[in-house]
Amino acid sequence: MESKIHRVSRSAYVVIGPEGATNFGIVRANDGGAVIIDADIRRIDEVEEALKLTGGAKVGYLVNTHEHFDHTSANYYFAQRGVPIVASAGCARAMNEEGAPDFARMMAPVAHLYDRFPGLCLTVPDMVFTAATRLTLPGVTLHLKYCAENGHSHSKGDTTVYFEEDETLIAGDLLYTEVHPVTFFGNIPNWLTALKPLFQSHYKQLIPGHGPTVEGEQAGRAYFKKMYDYLEDFYGNLQEIKAGRKSAEEIAAHMMRGAYASLGKTRMVQRNINQFLTGRWY
Ligand SMILES: [Zn+2]
Repeated sequence: MESKIHRVSRSAYVVIGPEGATNFGIVRANDGGAVIIDADIRRIDEVEEALKLTGGAKVGYLVNTHEHFDHTSANYYFAQRGVPIVASAGCARAMNEEGAPDFARMMAPVAHLYDRFPGLCLTVPDMVFTAATRLTLPGVTLHLKYCAENGHSHSKGDTTVYFEEDETLIAGDLLYTEVHPVTFFGNIPNWLTALKPLFQSHYKQLIPGHGPTVEGEQAGRAYFKKMYDYLEDFYGNLQEIKAGRKSAEEIAAHMMRGAYASLGKTRMVQRNINQFLTGRWY
């Protein structure tokens, strides 16, 4: 399945990842400039094609919503082209402290990319903000807000991006729509707290880190609520496993049924549980 480029508003586009793969945002300025939100080196051809199709010839900034490889691995590629890379201090810190082994692990299956992009390496953002910042290009005002509750929610860098002119909110991986989330790098109780203010946020278009985009605040709120309920239910059940009252198999089956039966990326359920059982992430 191919990814598709979806125009969500006058000047905002999303490369929707196939089958719940990562979404990349492109915001086009009035002068042909563009801001990219997240980019993965494994899918750089899709990003380049999207830039061509949307007319975003000159990339002014690359924003990382958080530190995970699928959102930051094209940093080197754009840094080589002189593009400033913007992220929260939490994101930059996580990449500095823990990014290298993760980068090596994720690159191992796609080592041929080292030939295609000589020097390719973990590249930490060079424009770092603490709580909030604003990026502007002609006709574009982006409000970046650090949202990782206590420094760790889905990730340590979680940032939302609000595109003021087009009233479009990019939620990063705090929100997954129609697919099972990746929880094992996260702190679920903090993630729940981080989601609460987002129930009240304003936008006309909502872009999750993975899954289809959402139109309108009412539908958006329902998706934020679904995300909240999923995480709360899953976390509660993990505690039941820990206490010996439920089995991992029971919980895996539960997370595939009922309200969750239609969610994609079902392989994530077992991975999330396994990572919990090995005690590596929670
Ligand atoms: Zn992530």
